[in-house]
Amino acid sequence: MRETMNEMQLPIVGDRHLDPHSYPEGVAFLDGQYLPMSQAKISVLDWGFLHSDATYDTAHVWKGRFFRLDLHLDRFFGGLDKLRMTIPFFREGVTEILHNCVALSGHRAAYVEMLCTRGASPTFSRDPRQAINRFMAFAVPFGSVANAEQLQRGLRVAISDKVRIPPASIDPTIKNYHWLDLVRGLYDAYDRGAETALILDFNGNVAEGPGFNVFCVKDGKLSTPSIGVLPGITRRTVFDLCIEQGLAAAATNVSVAALRDADEVFITSTAGGIMPVTEVDGVRIADGTVGAVTSRLMGLYWEKHDDPAWSSPVNYP
Ligand code: PLP
Repeated sequence: MRETMNEMQLPIVGDRHLDPHSYPEGVAFLDGQYLPMSQAKISVLDWGFLHSDATYDTAHVWKGRFFRLDLHLDRFFGGLDKLRMTIPFFREGVTEILHNCVALSGHRAAYVEMLCTRGASPTFSRDPRQAINRFMAFAVPFGSVANAEQLQRGLRVAISDKVRIPPASIDPTIKNYHWLDLVRGLYDAYDRGAETALILDFNGNVAEGPGFNVFCVKDGKLSTPSIGVLPGITRRTVFDLCIEQGLAAAATNVSVAALRDADEVFITSTAGGIMPVTEVDGVRIADGTVGAVTSRLMGLYWEKHDDPAWSSPVNYP
């Protein structure tokens, strides 16, 4: 007689599942419900998982306020359109869900992600048009690319020879999970004793790193790579701060030589804001200390988090 699944003795190969207590404290929204992070699970058949067919955005909450949430929503809805995904919420609905995730989590400093996967088709069709797109969101504690020590002394970065997936293949304005190039770059960096990586664009210029854009400062002028990179909200915030401060900033080609020769280098991400880099491939940038322009922009960036023109309060109960 055929054994049923319940009767079958499955070999025990060790518990590879995460203990619910080892999930970050937080609240997720999935399939119409608010859940603890440990219960927010999706099917392994979801194309988001099987094919990286997904788009997402990450906003943050600092001292109980969202920072530039509108810009994150613009980018997220833009990505949905470009990928021909639909979700059962308008912008106001997504905004409400994000507020609810943060409010229910109780976090005052949070990393808040909204995402949509292609989903799966009820008939397992290979036609993406038949998949039911799945919207999710969650709020977990705020995290940073750089830790407190690295923020003070500057990150040690290595430039990997890995090439960022070209924009003709994947439009980088769609925030995506195509990270194999970035993760391979990270391993190159670790092998060389660095803390994180920068990878190149298809012309051999500097592109971006795992979860961040990069800027260099030379003779008081800022530059950041223009092609093949995610148009980061923190990158945009640096441009906006530069306008306020009367600093020159341009999106252009940044060669590896120009980066090494810069007076200052910093990276930008929602996960940490503006973060100094003081060493590239084992060689110090200028005198190897955090530069004046970087420090000034870091200060201004965090000051803007209290400013109602740049931030909005979370609807806590
Ligand atoms: N580049 C990549 C590949 C990213 O994934 C991210 C953020 O996750 C960034 C840059 C920085 O973008 P933002 O400043 O919007 O966080």
